[in-house]
Amino acid sequence: MKLKKSLGQHILVSKGVLKKIASCIDIEKKTVIEIGGGTGNLTRELLEKNPEKLIVVEIDREMVEVLRSINRENIEIVNEDASTYEFCKHGKDLVVIGNLPYNMYSLIIENIVRHHYCIREACFLLQKEVSERIVGKINVGWLSLLVRTFYRVEYIMTVPSRFFKPPPKVNSGLIKLKRLDKCPVVDIDKYVWLLKKLFSNRRKMLKNKINEDILIKCKIDPKARAEKLKPENVLCIYNYMEEAKL
Ligand code: SAH
Repeated sequence: MKLKKSLGQHILVSKGVLKKIASCIDIEKKTVIEIGGGTGNLTRELLEKNPEKLIVVEIDREMVEVLRSINRENIEIVNEDASTYEFCKHGKDLVVIGNLPYNMYSLIIENIVRHHYCIREACFLLQKEVSERIVGKINVGWLSLLVRTFYRVEYIMTVPSRFFKPPPKVNSGLIKLKRLDKCPVVDIDKYVWLLKKLFSNRRKMLKNKINEDILIKCKIDPKARAEKLKPENVLCIYNYMEEAKL
């Protein structure tokens, strides 16, 4: 089969790595959603772990045909886009796993966080740099802060590009998300809007984007730039804005 670059189709061929990803989270007897099943390499390893049910969300019709040849009672293949998919229709306590398409990861992860109330844990393989940004190690951006407001994030391991077919240009990094006990945001649209505003024109000082009084109340240096922010800082700004109905 011809792989589609536009859909980020890089097939993971190392059995050892596939097994590692499948055991990133204990999925026995759980409802699991896999994103981007592709040819089913990871799908098969996930089934080995005896989930209660495995739902595979795959955008590419051709791949869906391949996946439908996996003959198991507890699997459901859906031909949909994971960046708009309604995850919560499958239950209230879901696990999401996937070797994500590297050109679409941002919209997909945003969609995951928007469904945090039904997704307890997740494990993603992403470009190494993207994984490092999300865990907050380098170059933090709005997506990293969004994820870390709702989930504790852990970097699990690096996967060299030679384990893929075709090999991507960069190495990959596996990360694990575990939902925090408190979900502190009521209006997630507003929270995402605020994050994007804070990170627009990254070089501008925060006081040029947000009322200086709020920054001071939240003990944030008005002259700092967005990359210095931590999830609790953004939450503080959000809460003051909610209070003041801004
Ligand atoms: N899981 C396989 C393939 C990973 S490649 C493996 O590990 O080998 C990424 C997969 O995501 C591809 O099959 C691609 O078709 C699919 N994909 C790309 N964009 C998607 C989207 N928006 N929603 C769901 N699947 C998507």
